[in-house]
Amino acid sequence: MKKIVSILGARPQFVKAAVLSRIIAEKNDIKEVIVHTGQHYDANMSDIFFDDMHIPKPKYNLNINGLGHGAMTGQMLEKIEAILQIEKPDAVVVYGDTNSTLAGALAAKKLHIKVIHIEAGLRSFNMKMPEEINRIITDRIADLLLCPTQKSMDNLKAEGFENMDIDFVLTGDIMKEAVTFYSTMVAEKATVLQQQKLTPEAFVLATIHRQENTDNLDNLKNIFKALDHISKTCQVILPIHPRTKGILEKHHIKTQVTLIEPVGYFDMLALLQNCKMVITDSGGLQKEAFFNQKFCIVARTETEWVELVDNGFAKIAGSDYEKIMTSFRFFDNKEKSFSKPLYGDKVGETIYAEILRVLS
Ligand code: UDP
Repeated sequence: MKKIVSILGARPQFVKAAVLSRIIAEKNDIKEVIVHTGQHYDANMSDIFFDDMHIPKPKYNLNINGLGHGAMTGQMLEKIEAILQIEKPDAVVVYGDTNSTLAGALAAKKLHIKVIHIEAGLRSFNMKMPEEINRIITDRIADLLLCPTQKSMDNLKAEGFENMDIDFVLTGDIMKEAVTFYSTMVAEKATVLQQQKLTPEAFVLATIHRQENTDNLDNLKNIFKALDHISKTCQVILPIHPRTKGILEKHHIKTQVTLIEPVGYFDMLALLQNCKMVITDSGGLQKEAFFNQKFCIVARTETEWVELVDNGFAKIAGSDYEKIMTSFRFFDNKEKSFSKPLYGDKVGETIYAEILRVLS
């Protein structure tokens, strides 16, 4: 039986891996060994996803966190290399754009183990983003690139990947399948609406955690100024990332927004299904808003998911108070129509088939 090692470390990777790991376990053609780097480690940022989404338990937990980018990536690289030398997999699967993604890809490539990158080809064209650096390097050294959108395919073509010995394939977006699969369980499992006494369509869902906002106080204050303004007429509920929480506390920034601890995936889906609109700097949440037929205001100056903006489902507002407010009023009055298929179908199966293909 062929063996893969999957490298996970951060919340968005748990959500994506839940889909593929379930298919791998069902088909039983490939043995999967999971390495958890420990990049996200709080119970509500990590364990809850493994438990709720039935992700197989990691065989290795590296517990590497709370470090700068260099130390974190370096320690991961060293430890993943040692694991790969023991496990001798046929391929390593990495997801998205975190330090765990880069470390996993680098460790594998230097041992001549095939690298499969899920969510490849995305670009923000903002080289100040640590995620952009991670994804560009990972794509360049991978063997198989599984692309979520036509735009991500086009990005790779523009960078000359057609002339390289790297396979790149359009599979659709694996997060779509996570939303579809786990949505059926929300009514039974989610508790957040009752706990927070939320009325459907009467609250805005927000998340803020990107470094460009948390590490720039002006940006952070502007975003919260807008969220506070919206709170006057419509409750804003924000499951707060530990990094953002630390910075708000450190700088004594007060807010009218309802801050709650990070929620598990079922509660997140319940919030998405029932909110009026989404305001976020998250990558994943922009699409999840679309899958749940909600407009999204992007609190960043660019997005990798350009098709959402091009089709009028999302607006880029950055940390600009006026832009956030104008976008909020615009979407609040806009009729909803989300029927456009943007992110593929049967994505998990397609990705699984591609992995089998390169393993054979
Ligand atoms: N998420 C969640 N609970 C939260 C915040 C986010 O379940 O409190 C989910 C979110 O719905 C998405 C995933 O975590 O599926 C990753 O989102 P995040 O914003 O952490 O990462 P990004 O997509 O920006 O890399």
